[in-house]
Amino acid sequence: MDLANPNPNPQVALFASPGMGHLIPLVALSERLFSLHGFHSTIFVASTEASTTTVLHSLHLPSAIRIVHLSPPDISAFVTAQTAVVSRVSITVRESMPAFRDALAAMSPKPSVLIVEMFGTYTFPIAEEQGIPKYVYIPTTAAFLALTVYLPTLHKEIEGEYVDMQEPIYIPSCRPIRVEDLVDPMMDRKDDQYENYVYMGNTLPLADAIMINTWEDLEPTTLRAIREDPLLRRIMPLPVYPVGPIVRSSGEKSRAECMAWLDEQPMESVIYVSLGSGGTLSEEQLTEFAFGLELSGKRFPWVVRPPTGKDGAFFKAGRDGGDGGDGLSRYLPDGFLTRTRGVGLVVPLWAPQLEVLSHPSIGGFLSHCGWNSTLESMVNGVPMIAWPLYSEQKMNAAILEEEVGVAVRTKELPTKRVVGREEIEKLVRLVMEKEGEAMRRRMKEVKESGLRAVGDGGSSWDWLSHVAQQWKIGYLHAKEKAGKRRQEGEIDATRELVVMNC
Ligand code: UDP
Repeated sequence: MDLANPNPNPQVALFASPGMGHLIPLVALSERLFSLHGFHSTIFVASTEASTTTVLHSLHLPSAIRIVHLSPPDISAFVTAQTAVVSRVSITVRESMPAFRDALAAMSPKPSVLIVEMFGTYTFPIAEEQGIPKYVYIPTTAAFLALTVYLPTLHKEIEGEYVDMQEPIYIPSCRPIRVEDLVDPMMDRKDDQYENYVYMGNTLPLADAIMINTWEDLEPTTLRAIREDPLLRRIMPLPVYPVGPIVRSSGEKSRAECMAWLDEQPMESVIYVSLGSGGTLSEEQLTEFAFGLELSGKRFPWVVRPPTGKDGAFFKAGRDGGDGGDGLSRYLPDGFLTRTRGVGLVVPLWAPQLEVLSHPSIGGFLSHCGWNSTLESMVNGVPMIAWPLYSEQKMNAAILEEEVGVAVRTKELPTKRVVGREEIEKLVRLVMEKEGEAMRRRMKEVKESGLRAVGDGGSSWDWLSHVAQQWKIGYLHAKEKAGKRRQEGEIDATRELVVMNC
């Protein structure tokens, strides 16, 4: 068997938790694994009632990537209307395990590796049972990973609520985190999403290795801490591979109106406003947003959703904000659409974001700082206004503003109060006018650095090649072993593929 020339088409299995923010990064990773290393992927998706099916149809996946929806588990016994999104995701994943076990066992040929995102650690015992190496793909920052795996230690050391602490949170050898920037599940220790998050922190280090959608030059301090700090190494003695920035388009080309409108605008004159796949604003905040944009006098496409004020839209994959996008104008100030005609474009519910961000007319992005959106902004060199809403977005916003220097944010968190129109106007001007030039320059450097990392011979390129090679070698060893066993009469040829990964 020639190990230097491995089989070009080994299989990987991936497991995605509910929500586009979880699925899109795994799709993007699969595309990269296929285009660079010939891997075929099967992505098992844990479904919720409002599944991601419609969005998936628009992704135009190559035939090498197969999506398998696990049947939605009945979680009614474990959730109420008040159950938070993180808990819902976690419960759905946990309850999907019997279906996943059967689906994984039925894969033929067996996969060389199982890759899960961070909610997917419930799959580990199943991967172990079936003799498949288990990797985690963190679709966000190394800083998030460091905090998460250190959380069980904080849980033991710190009494009372984190949010009541006067001091920032210290993670060995990492940048301190202000308590107000902590992830949502740490806001209330009595909430069951906190328990789920501690579970994540305890189980992530049980992986065989971790890949992260970041790159060496973006988070050098945190990556060094994860690899070298003795305490963090003890907690997580695994290889950690930054393989990003990996982004993909949401695949949609249908909103031609939006792109045609951008074609008419001068270079870098437009601010794109969008709060991810699930972000919504309160009615009052939506009104202030509208006036703030209008007062700034800048050109904008604004992806608007009805002001539910809840994060439930996350589960609807962002396409159906409750009324299918009709009648959005009733949530906007009287006369807003008329007054901003020509300058602004209201896009109901969903825009082809990556295409928008790569358009030369875009000069700024007001974003909720989901990590996919953040990377999409980075690879296009677009400076940001950080408007974090949920999850780990406040941490992301802090990194963007304080560590990388490519974003501005409101003085107080936008989730704590209604941010007035004057402040919004000021932020828009800050990014779009002369003052924003340093930030724009810095973002262009970040873009170059990110593109270098994923380009041929860059650090992320090399790490991904390294793991791909490991999987291929494992695959070949298993195949060779199976071949020998067959020759020795232990197994018959029809079972070869089944035992390939033992
Ligand atoms: N997205 C899009 N159009 C929209 C809103 C979002 O294409 O109108 C895509 C966006 O490009 C990104 C993903 O949805 O790839 C959102 O992921 P992110 O991590 O930024 O935030 P989340 O939605 O998970 O909070």
